[in-house]
Amino acid sequence: MSFVFALLAAVIASLWWTARRRHLAEVARHAEEMAALRAVHVAAQQAQQQRLETLLDSMVEGLLVLDATGRITLSNRAAESLFGFSRLMIGGTLLEAVRNHEVAALVARLATEPVILDHELRLEGPAPHILQINGAALNDAAGARTGALLVFHDLTRMRELEGARQEFVANVSHELRTPLSLIKSAAETLLDGAKADPVALDRLLAIIDRHADRLTLLIDDLLMLARLDSGRLTLNLQPCSLRTAVQQTLDDLAPRAKVRAMQMESTLPEGLLVHADPDRLNQVLFNLIDNGIKYGRACGVVTVSGRPLDNGKVEVCVRDDGPGIPPEARARVFERFYRVDKARSREQGGTGLGLAIVKHVVLAHGGQVRVESEMGQGAAFYFTLQVFSTD
Ligand code: ADP
Repeated sequence: MSFVFALLAAVIASLWWTARRRHLAEVARHAEEMAALRAVHVAAQQAQQQRLETLLDSMVEGLLVLDATGRITLSNRAAESLFGFSRLMIGGTLLEAVRNHEVAALVARLATEPVILDHELRLEGPAPHILQINGAALNDAAGARTGALLVFHDLTRMRELEGARQEFVANVSHELRTPLSLIKSAAETLLDGAKADPVALDRLLAIIDRHADRLTLLIDDLLMLARLDSGRLTLNLQPCSLRTAVQQTLDDLAPRAKVRAMQMESTLPEGLLVHADPDRLNQVLFNLIDNGIKYGRACGVVTVSGRPLDNGKVEVCVRDDGPGIPPEARARVFERFYRVDKARSREQGGTGLGLAIVKHVVLAHGGQVRVESEMGQGAAFYFTLQVFSTD
């Protein structure tokens, strides 16, 4: 009997252990499955987070998301670089990150206004920025406030371009008005009776002719700059002999040099070929050598030289022995309409656009321009062009 009980107990115990082992194995398998699911979920969450960060970081606009207590919960690279904070500031307060009370006040306003659009803010500092801020309050489904969203649009470059455009239009209008008003007053004087006087007639017609030429020159230069700016200028690149191009320009300018009793020299070696558009190369040389004649010393010398550089380029230099260019003006002479001496430039028939054209033509060829000058020692304008090679 006791044997039967013992056997029964052993069978029950064995069954229990089997059931228990199975149960434990199931629990373990379940735990493994849960861990695997969790890992997949975490990986999916990380991938989503990564996608969100990539998306936000590729935005041009800065973005900040705050929780209801005003702490940062999300930011993107544009916002971080605008305000100079790092992603470690997530969890910090808005003021700690942006250090700007106007932005904090804007967020405070979102407590009563659900949306604030086009708020303009000027960020002072070594490189000031003009920002346009859009803000929105974030609410949950029950309408309770959960935080705020701020989007920062950097208007600095746009404003700079707008300012440059306005200045350019003002300059163009001024430059056009001067010769036009001279032509108009000469014509009025003629109509008022001066045409009866042959001397006055010749003088006034000469004024009209000169200023009409000036207008043509100005319009040609403006059109050339517009083509350069828009990238519509197609360069007809081909091997050009520098020595020949310089000699042609010197010949063209010889009558002008003669008027100021100036010498012109070229020390360019034969066989120096550059990869350039011949018409544009002539224009660059013409503008630089013409400036040497206009602003150089009367009875002085304008020299054109060139040397190959190590980087497959050749550097050309147009030098004069005139009064030179003051240090503060050197950085600006390539700007449109910038003139060191306005009166002298106009008197010489300058448009104030010659060097801007030189710069843009050279840049379009992949070259660089620069100027060196010492007061009283003349000015030297350099530009580089690609050497033409057959390989
Ligand atoms: P502009 O039509 O007035 O000559 P540019 O763009 O060619 O216009 O030159 C801009 C200004 O740079 C000139 O007005 C002049 O003041 C200065 N400049 C240019 N070349 C020289 C030079 N070789 N020596 C001194 N000043 C120069």
